[in-house]
Amino acid sequence: MYRPFGPRWPQVRADVNPGALCIYYESAAGLTRDHVPPKALFPKPRPGNLVTVPACFRCNSSAGLDDDYFATARRAFQTAYPLVPPVPTAASPPLGGGLQLGDAVDLTRVYRVVVRVVRGLNFHETGRRFGPGEPVDVFCNATLSRSGPGVLGHLHSEILAPILTLPAKQLGTGVFEYRFWHSPDDPSCSVWLLTFHAAVPFLVTTGTGAA
Ligand SMILES: [Zn+2]
Repeated sequence: MYRPFGPRWPQVRADVNPGALCIYYESAAGLTRDHVPPKALFPKPRPGNLVTVPACFRCNSSAGLDDDYFATARRAFQTAYPLVPPVPTAASPPLGGGLQLGDAVDLTRVYRVVVRVVRGLNFHETGRRFGPGEPVDVFCNATLSRSGPGVLGHLHSEILAPILTLPAKQLGTGVFEYRFWHSPDDPSCSVWLLTFHAAVPFLVTTGTGAA
């Protein structure tokens, strides 16, 4: 499940042509600009550097309810931990951060939004779409906290510590930041660390890298 990617700098292409297909299912019908992460997360006046990707009307509109849920789910977050560095101990959240997702949060819906954000950001950064068969796996403190110390130690040393050495990109002050790494050998293999509200982190792995 956990993929031991080493610390490498991502290969990012500049000046990517957005193309003319929906990045989610490659439909060319009724293209819109889809905000990743959802525009609803950002209070007005919204920052000028929000990321949009081409998406068909169907994909964009079908995500609206999940986006709204995600934007308001912050109310269901609970303050469970002090702000700590992401060092796994029995008392700290595996990914760090100051807020834990509460039991009342619908993780299925939250994860759907996170997966879409990563698909969108990956296209924004590299010009590449993830195919429908390429896995995108999401982890958060609420689920990782149930892992054993061996798994958490591996997660920290092989994934978290390396990716935290990479520069974070920020959208909105204290609203969203992300770091990412791509395998130089397999463009489908990547690792993403997303942080919402400066406190709610998600780790996302893509591709079928060796466990
Ligand atoms: Zn679409």
